[in-house]
Amino acid sequence: MFKNHCCAGRHMPVLLVSVLVAVALLTVTPALAAQATPQKAVAAAAAPQAAAVKPADSDEQRIQELILANHIIADLGVVDGFGHVSVRSFSNPSHYFLAKSKAPALITREDIMEFDENSEPVDAQGRTPYLERFIHGEIYRVRPDVQSVVHSHSPAVIPFGVTTVALRPIMHMAGFLPQTTPVFEIRNAAGDDNGILVSDRMLGAALAKSLGDAPVALMRGHGSAVVGPSIRVAVFRAVYTQVNAQIEAEALKLGPPVFLNAMEAAKVDTANRGNVNRAWDIWASHASGGAKK
Ligand SMILES: [Zn+2]
Repeated sequence: MFKNHCCAGRHMPVLLVSVLVAVALLTVTPALAAQATPQKAVAAAAAPQAAAVKPADSDEQRIQELILANHIIADLGVVDGFGHVSVRSFSNPSHYFLAKSKAPALITREDIMEFDENSEPVDAQGRTPYLERFIHGEIYRVRPDVQSVVHSHSPAVIPFGVTTVALRPIMHMAGFLPQTTPVFEIRNAAGDDNGILVSDRMLGAALAKSLGDAPVALMRGHGSAVVGPSIRVAVFRAVYTQVNAQIEAEALKLGPPVFLNAMEAAKVDTANRGNVNRAWDIWASHASGGAKK
């Protein structure tokens, strides 16, 4: 912990500049001089440098990625007018950000709302939240590893939630899928007389229980919930859950498929995680019109 002592000499120029700036401030601006303390002068000297350093993470950074994530999943057909994506708050991890009830492709900064641990809006400002926001809130409650949740009604995954055919990893980009993807049966939580939609905390908790520690849960007759340790990974998984479902359905028409085994899936998933940004960049470019110009 003391190894920085060997580098103490490197701080001398910085200190010298700070002192010179402090002197300059005291000399040139009498109004500032009246208030200036050595600490403030040093902070003022350091401010331009600090401002140039992009924070590693922040709520605003997450919100900007969330807006882009909405556009990407819409652009790739994971969602249409319905479905949503959220991100956990960085500054208050029991809260999360999610758009108001609006088509994902059209989401802008002013649509993003903050929700508390019970999925109640912190400051609704007249905006109407998604009915199914409890999917997000209840998963965040029990999965501290999850930073982002995508809920979609992707038609490709629906068949695997309504039949005895399991969604399994069949192609390398979907190595994150478990050997058998869990299915949430809402009748087990709400009985036969249910509304299919996850419209309260009890149903959200039941879905989160079905998800367990998996990255994806199918929702019978409805869609799926996909989670990840970041927005980018959650979007990556949502996209390739859909692709895997499409390929599996096609393969099943030809004959019994050979799936990735657990070892293959785990290894290729590790490799893929290093390339999530590569996919994100091209998807973001398309979603924002960059590659279409
Ligand atoms: Zn839904």
